[in-house]
Amino acid sequence: MDCYTAEQKITGFIQNELDDAETEAFLSHIRSCESCRNELETNYFIVEGLRMLDTDSDDFDVKGTMDRAIRSAYQRLRTARGWKIVLYSVNTLVFLSVIGTLLLELRILFYR
Ligand SMILES: [Zn+2]
Repeated sequence: MDCYTAEQKITGFIQNELDDAETEAFLSHIRSCESCRNELETNYFIVEGLRMLDTDSDDFDVKGTMDRAIRSAYQRLRTARGWKIVLYSVNTLVFLSVIGTLLLELRILFYR
């Protein structure tokens, strides 16, 4: 992902609107590109400011909010990857069961 694309995705990331592939590409860019990381932090600065105005709270923790969002995005990606493995395993088992059943059927048909 290049800087231009990453900057386009910042709002989507903050609002949790990116799909898993986009989130992964975005996070990997943010990790290696300081300029986009700063841009993301600036956006969180605005988000945090608005949240403070809305809730009358006085803890202004931009870095914490951004770090939490990044951590939870990584967590979401790990969970999604885990489910993909589970689904793949179940699919493989179902496929093997179907093949096994077919072979048994054929045996019944041809070796009566
Ligand atoms: Zn960049």
